[in-house]
Amino acid sequence: MSEQPSGPGTVDPPVRRRGLMLVLSSPSGAGKTTISRRLLDRDRAITLSISATTRPPRPGEVDGVDYRFVSEDEFRRMVKGGDFLEHARVFGHRYGTPREAVEAELAAGRDVLFDIDWQGTQQLAEKARADLVSVFILPPSRAELERRLFARAQDPAEVVARRMAKASDEMSHYPEYDYIIVNSDLEESVAQVLAILTAERLRRTRRIGLGEFVAGMRGA
Ligand code: 5GP
Repeated sequence: MSEQPSGPGTVDPPVRRRGLMLVLSSPSGAGKTTISRRLLDRDRAITLSISATTRPPRPGEVDGVDYRFVSEDEFRRMVKGGDFLEHARVFGHRYGTPREAVEAELAAGRDVLFDIDWQGTQQLAEKARADLVSVFILPPSRAELERRLFARAQDPAEVVARRMAKASDEMSHYPEYDYIIVNSDLEESVAQVLAILTAERLRRTRRIGLGEFVAGMRGA
């Protein structure tokens, strides 16, 4: 274990802890990306896992910041090389979580945020259930979901229609998640994710050297 980060997001610095994997999933249009951004702004102990994808960049998206944009060939090579912690096909494109960066963060006692779908979440649960905290974000209503999907003018109409059908599929997976947030109010939702993160960081099972810490105080 190396140095723990300090500042907001750390808990009881004398006791070290394992980093956790916080997954946020939602149908597209539920507000997950905005919630993730605000969370990353407010909590310096969590970093975003940057996925690789074969999907072309949308206007404004930056390679290495939003995604690592790769070719089908490169993606296949990464799969073969065992470079992914999980990978899945979503909306006809391939997405995967590069293993190395995540493992380095966790080993350093830092937390990692994942914006991945239910397939990826299932794969992480199979590999590292103890380190995983999963949150599913629901839109407040179908009308609001439709409004948000259509407001995203960057995508062609047939993509939007496909996303509405996919949103319905994606939402059927909510029972597989540890926590559910209904995103009616953005600030409230961010506060709820922060509350989950704070509580999960305090879990006894994630805290390393607790025995030593208490023994020191007991003079044992
Ligand atoms: P978008 O193309 O709109 O950025 O993302 C489409 C969907 O793919 C979202 O539900 C997002 O959470 C999911 N996704 C993004 N990266 C990954 C990944 O690395 N693995 C998996 N399984 N899903 C991902």
